[in-house]
Amino acid sequence: MDEDIITEVLGDSKPGRMRCSIPEILESLPDYARDAYEHLITSKSATSTAITRSLNTRFNANLSPKTLQRHRRGECTCGRS
Ligand SMILES: [Zn+2]
Repeated sequence: MDEDIITEVLGDSKPGRMRCSIPEILESLPDYARDAYEHLITSKSATSTAITRSLNTRFNANLSPKTLQRHRRGECTCGRS
């Protein structure tokens, strides 16, 4: 059994639980930017609003701070803990 598939489908099955777009966005960034944002997302000094604004302004990420907040709390479907 592939746990990732099971987690993914069960995660998507929950009402109101949208698929997390953070990995997709990070994946689409150039290397230098991905490193920076990965660092910022784990940094307590950077607010989700500021990170979101930067991603949206520089890379047209079309991201909402709520999505990022959920991701940072580990409540998304990424399966990252
Ligand atoms: Zn996520």
